[in-house]
Amino acid sequence: MSQGACSSPLERNEFTYGSVLDAQVLVLNQTYEPLNVTTVRRALRLIERSKAEVLERNGAVVRSPSVAVEAPTVVRMLYRVKRPLPQLKLTRRAVFARDDHSCQYCGRSDVPLTIDHVIPRSRQGATSWGNVVASCIRCNNLKGDRLPREAGLRLRKVPRCPQYTPYISLPMFLSAQRAGKWREYLDPWMKCDL
Ligand SMILES: [Zn+2]
Repeated sequence: MSQGACSSPLERNEFTYGSVLDAQVLVLNQTYEPLNVTTVRRALRLIERSKAEVLERNGAVVRSPSVAVEAPTVVRMLYRVKRPLPQLKLTRRAVFARDDHSCQYCGRSDVPLTIDHVIPRSRQGATSWGNVVASCIRCNNLKGDRLPREAGLRLRKVPRCPQYTPYISLPMFLSAQRAGKWREYLDPWMKCDL
């Protein structure tokens, strides 16, 4: 999913029939916990079957021969969906998303990024949330096999494992958080400042 895919359908009011039904919908559990991102088509089916209620609409109208309904953008399940909590996977995309797609040494976000081990692997530095950060190639080369302070570099923030409800992938969660009507439903589940 691209970053813009969350926000663009929410900001437009005019859709063709296909794109209205394909627009993204945030699904909350009965407990208001973010559960999934689905399409308007599937969300309407949940509502028709009384499995979910609409919390927010996106302003677009879905028309069928007999009825016109406003397309939902946030729905809540009317029963509790029980799912095992997935492990938050340490991936390049997830690290870049956590680090706001910016180099954690110089702050630049307009250059290609790579993954840096804060304590180098050559010194038994782990591949863990607390030891990997997004770094531009220049800072990564500058740092080499050294600790940041040995290379005269400073981390802009301490890398941590994101504490959030991981039903939705971290990149999607962070990008969805920026989409107007979803934000208030997602923010409470972000337990630490990323
Ligand atoms: Zn840099």
